[in-house]
Amino acid sequence: MTPQEIRDLHSKYLFPCTVNYYQESLPLVRGKGTSLWDAEGREYLDFFGGILTVSLGHCDDEVNAKIKEQVDTLQHTSTLYPTPPIVLLAKRLAEIAPEGSGISQTFFTGSGTEADETAIMLAKIATGQQEVIVQRHSYSGRSHLNTTLTAHSNYRALPSQIAGVKHIHAPYCYRCPFKLSYPSCDLACARDMKELIDTTTNGKPAAFMAEPIMGVGGFVTPPKDYFKVAVEIVRAHGGLFIADEVQTFARTGDTWWGIEQFGVQPDIITTAKGIANGVPMGVTMTRPELAKKWTASTISTFGGNPVSCTAATATLDAIDGRDLLKNAATMGKHLRAGLEALQAKHELIGDVRGMGLMQALELVEDRKTKAPARKAIAALFEDTRRRGLLIGKGGLYGNVVRITPPLNVTKDEVDRALKLLDEAFTEIAAKVPA
Ligand code: PMP
Repeated sequence: MTPQEIRDLHSKYLFPCTVNYYQESLPLVRGKGTSLWDAEGREYLDFFGGILTVSLGHCDDEVNAKIKEQVDTLQHTSTLYPTPPIVLLAKRLAEIAPEGSGISQTFFTGSGTEADETAIMLAKIATGQQEVIVQRHSYSGRSHLNTTLTAHSNYRALPSQIAGVKHIHAPYCYRCPFKLSYPSCDLACARDMKELIDTTTNGKPAAFMAEPIMGVGGFVTPPKDYFKVAVEIVRAHGGLFIADEVQTFARTGDTWWGIEQFGVQPDIITTAKGIANGVPMGVTMTRPELAKKWTASTISTFGGNPVSCTAATATLDAIDGRDLLKNAATMGKHLRAGLEALQAKHELIGDVRGMGLMQALELVEDRKTKAPARKAIAALFEDTRRRGLLIGKGGLYGNVVRITPPLNVTKDEVDRALKLLDEAFTEIAAKVPA
């Protein structure tokens, strides 16, 4: 098919709300490692890694061989029957759960949306409390509950639908909601949890759910002691802490879970995206004493699908076997240093933030006013596309570049991406006045 034939069928047969990047969408037909190819055979360096989904790069040989074998052995059962892939993955997840968390049981679904939804239901059931606290700028998915949790008006097709969801200010140091600076702020955003609970809830929250580093929100990265303060207040009111690791899983460097960077134990963990190298998978994990409180029956038709579970176990094995948590740390440092060098050179880059292979550039028209550079980011996307580099977008104002290559990215690939970004920033500075 030609690119135009693909675009025409897309506009004719898909919902128009199906967001595509770029002024003229980019139909893709093939992927291998960090490369993707469009319908005309042009190659792109994928520095968004799917959407942080292809942890090992596209079409990994080892994972795909196991997927193919599983497809021909047992392709589907649902959660109604135990299978070797579902129990082996659950066991493996228990082994890599944060040490000392006591987390050892999993419920499988098909997406991050369902994983978060399951976590919130579990917290309400387990605590007998009803209200839920999430952060402004956070993202949880696209169901009725999750669009209420998600704190971005542009992702709400309807007004908030679910009662009892309260949004705490984000630990967004670059745009501090309290106009303070860390550390003299004394973590005002985390300490505000107390007033939020006292004034907007009945004093008994079921849970606080947060991404260790906000994904769609533009890689807002809290200070290291943020979660200790916020979570302690929630626990004092009988609430649980849910770490949404849909984006942070295996990415922040040296640890499996982003929350391990912050020295806090979660009660529930959710993940999806990168856990099965691009095969659909939703994971909600918790401690047995919490899991057992869910006594009503529940089924997920595609949850624990044998092919998805096999893909996830193979992905975990590869991350382990190829030492990729370490690679995320070392390549993350190299990438970060390169991005900071770009910030020193290009006025448009107001902030560089993130951890490991989860790095962001927030683009601003002016470093003093911090006005979001919307035109410039649109130009950057078109320019990097022309140069064969794919990047991600995020942030409430859509002015944050998300850079998340696969965990096995090489130094040479990082250097190539940095060079392409440098050229693109130079080009757009000449064309788009800041
Ligand atoms: N939580 C977070 C942190 C996410 O980034 C996303 C997806 N962007 C979701 C939940 C929802 O996942 P899915 O799109 O698989 O439903």
